[in-house]
Amino acid sequence: MNTEPLLRHLHRQLPAALEMLREMVGINSWTENRDGVNRVGRFTASVFAPLGLDAEFVRSQHPAWGDHLVMSRNGTSGRTVGLVSHLDTVFPPEEEERNGFRWSVEGSRAFGPGTHDIKGGTVMMWLVLDALKALAPELWESLGWRLLWNSSEELLSTDFGPLCRSHLDPANAIALVFEAEGRGPGVRRLVVARKGRGTWRICVTGRGAHAGVHHARGANAITQLARTLEQVDALTDSGRELTVNIGVVRGGGGLNRVPHLAEAEGEWRAFDPAVFADCRARLLRLAGPGTVCSPMAFRPR
Ligand SMILES: [Zn+2]
Repeated sequence: MNTEPLLRHLHRQLPAALEMLREMVGINSWTENRDGVNRVGRFTASVFAPLGLDAEFVRSQHPAWGDHLVMSRNGTSGRTVGLVSHLDTVFPPEEEERNGFRWSVEGSRAFGPGTHDIKGGTVMMWLVLDALKALAPELWESLGWRLLWNSSEELLSTDFGPLCRSHLDPANAIALVFEAEGRGPGVRRLVVARKGRGTWRICVTGRGAHAGVHHARGANAITQLARTLEQVDALTDSGRELTVNIGVVRGGGGLNRVPHLAEAEGEWRAFDPAVFADCRARLLRLAGPGTVCSPMAFRPR
C-alpha cells in the first residue's frame, strides 16, 4: 500500500492540528470546572463541524458537570463507526498555575495539561477523519460516524456508557477509543481490548478469645483468612489471561487476642467473559464454613 499521499496529507494538516491542540489545552477543563468543560465542548464541535457532523450537547446527570458532546453523520451503507474521547482533564486551574502547566513546544514534543490525555486524542480523531474524507471519500461517505465525548471521564460518570450504547448499534458498530495507551516513550501500540475487572471482599468471622488463658476457645479469623487467600491466589491463571489480586488485608485488634474478624479485598481481571464469570463463581464458592475451628468450641463442658 502506498502511504505517501496519506503522509503528505497529514504533514500538511499538522500545523492546523497543533493549533487546535494549543487552543484546547489553553482552556482549563478540570472535570469540576463546568464552564471550562463546556467551552472545550463548543470548541470541539466547531472544529469537527466542517466535516459535516451535527453536534448534540447532552446534559450530564451530575448537575455540576459539563455537557457530554455527541457528533453524528449518517453514511450510505448503514454501517457506523464510533469514536470516543473525553472533554475533561484532571488539574484545577490553581494547580495548573502553581505548577506552570501550560502549552509549550520543545522540539517535536508538545507539553501542557491534557496534551496527552486526552486533547491530543481528540485532535488525532480530527486528523484521522479529515484524512479519510480527503483521501478515501467513498469510504468516508459510506460509513456513519458517531463521535462521543464524555464530559466527566476523570470522575467516572455513570451516564456516559448508556449514552454511548444508545448511539452505537451493537450489530455493526466498532468503537475506537482515543485514550492514549501511555506505555512510555518509543512504544507504539494499538490497544484492541481492555480486561473486564471485578472486585471482591472476603469477611471472616472467627471466635475471639484471650490468647493467654483461653487460647483454645478461640477460632482465629486471620488464620482462616490466610488459608482462604491461598485459594484466592491460586485462581490466577496466566494461560487464560486471568489475574486475581489480593490488594488489602485487615484483621485483629491486639497481640493478646485471638482475632474474631478479618477481611481482605482485591480484584480480578479477564478478557474472556466466560473466564471472568468462572472466576466469579469460584470466588463465591469460597463462602461458607472454613477449616479453622476452636478446639473447645463444640466440646461440652
Ligand atoms: Zn483520559
